[in-house]
Amino acid sequence: MSKNNVYQAPASAVRSLSPEEFDQYQLARSRNTPAQKQEARLRRRAVLIQSRYGIPAPIYLGQLQAQQFRCLGCRAHEKELGIALCADRDPDTRDLRGLFCHSCKRVLDTLRKRPGAARNLAIYIDHYQKI
Ligand SMILES: [Zn+2]
Repeated sequence: MSKNNVYQAPASAVRSLSPEEFDQYQLARSRNTPAQKQEARLRRRAVLIQSRYGIPAPIYLGQLQAQQFRCLGCRAHEKELGIALCADRDPDTRDLRGLFCHSCKRVLDTLRKRPGAARNLAIYIDHYQKI
């Protein structure tokens, strides 16, 4: 194995391959690149999200990449969280509005019921952080 985790056969072995075997070898190598593994994981996840929640895979992946895999609230990256971001959807149209960590989603759902409370709490937090 080379340092970037791509399978590398000895050159002498590669030279002795038939054209069909060489194509298979190239295909096997390309499937082993970390970027392609990551992309395959993302696609599988998007398909799961689509089947489980009905959010079209391209929409989900587009939103995830637009947010750079970060929560719209606290900006934590999915890797830091160790768990996938939650979808916030329009209750009427079911359109995806944004992706949040579980903590931010819970706060968002609570504050959405009392929008005035969000402003009051923000003022309260600012006041005590300046002291
Ligand atoms: Zn968050």
